[in-house]
Amino acid sequence: MRKLFTLIAILLFTVTLNAQTNRPSESVLDRFLRYVKIDTQSKEDQNKVPSTEKQLVLANLLAKELKELGAENVRVSEFGIVYATVPGNLPDNSKVPVIGLIAHMDTSPEVSGANVQPIIHKNYQGGDITLPKDTTQVISVAKNPDLKNLIGDDIITADGTTLLGSDDKAGCAEIMTMIDILRRNPQIKHGTIAIAFTPDEEVGGGIDKFDIKGFGAKFAYTVDGEELGEISNETWSARTATVHFQGKNTHPGTAKDIMVNSAYAAADFMTRFPQDMLPETTEGRVGFVHPYTGTLDAEESSVKILLRDFELSGLDAKEALIKEMARQTGLKFPKVKVTVEVKENYKNMKEVLKDYPQLTEYAMEATRRAGLKSHIRAIRGGTDGARLTFQGLPTPNLFTGGHNFHGKLEFNSVRGLEKSTETLVHLVRVFAEKGM
Ligand SMILES: [Zn+2]
Repeated sequence: MRKLFTLIAILLFTVTLNAQTNRPSESVLDRFLRYVKIDTQSKEDQNKVPSTEKQLVLANLLAKELKELGAENVRVSEFGIVYATVPGNLPDNSKVPVIGLIAHMDTSPEVSGANVQPIIHKNYQGGDITLPKDTTQVISVAKNPDLKNLIGDDIITADGTTLLGSDDKAGCAEIMTMIDILRRNPQIKHGTIAIAFTPDEEVGGGIDKFDIKGFGAKFAYTVDGEELGEISNETWSARTATVHFQGKNTHPGTAKDIMVNSAYAAADFMTRFPQDMLPETTEGRVGFVHPYTGTLDAEESSVKILLRDFELSGLDAKEALIKEMARQTGLKFPKVKVTVEVKENYKNMKEVLKDYPQLTEYAMEATRRAGLKSHIRAIRGGTDGARLTFQGLPTPNLFTGGHNFHGKLEFNSVRGLEKSTETLVHLVRVFAEKGM
């Protein structure tokens, strides 16, 4: 009975809270639509951060808007990273840890992000969505099972010629709208919040320039995930192996008994990959080995292989497998010198986050308060948060409502944007209530 009363009290409280919450000065949808129209595509293999100047257009705009929203300490670093602080409104802010919220401004180099024409498919009633400017681009129910959860929602897509840029302008718009809501609702109590918008997430350079100390957060979240309710506190542990095959080249006219063509050894090595251990044959929590590039030359050949697993023991086993494959090839081609070089890329952030279970619990609590079901998903990739986590800033990843990142079929929805924003508001409140 008492439980029931508590439940009713919480429900009433939530309802009145929502009723009394002043709306943001600009809806998260309008903000999102403004941001996606700014081309911020990043570029591979540039020796500078940001890799493209155009990312600074959004960086400077966000900085300007942060100031207008009352954020303090707003600055754009020499690398185009936007930092800001939202001061807490508690009697004693020092009792609550400073929480960071991070989103990235760039979009994937894979698909154009220029002239994005967002389309709102109002009151979606099920079925496939064909994009008007290229009717071969179809968001199908078969490939997007989450669509069935979006009936009645307004779905936002691009027109079929570009990506949408929800990854990660949804995160940018949601964080900005959260700040707007907090400013207009001083009754919502929260500690100090550190904000950062980063360039070059998609090309992996931006986070190297991140000033963790200057940022000032004790814990952080990247707001860069996918479907509503999905929280990630695990990434791959990742290594890259390079196998070198050293042969001997000479003029082919006089090569008899002298030439050792390394390409044959490389080809032999390629046949040894277990077919059930590849990216194209694995999913979920199963790791893979992925020979993704290489060189073929009579004198010297090489193959580069991504090794990915959620467990370090599994990663070790994959490294041992590659070394054994190389050894077997070496036995078959005794005149070719086969060597293996392995580099550590990043580790599963769970190795650190397991010591801070509250970060995941609070995010799940905030998700529930926003009226959503929460679930944990391990990311088959890396995140900027994983890098930060190992540099001393534990950083799990939160959903944004987005789907089909890095492609023309990318989409989000109005509810996706609104519920993600609401979750962020709840999250800072949960920290203020519970501390750490
Ligand atoms: Zn992203």
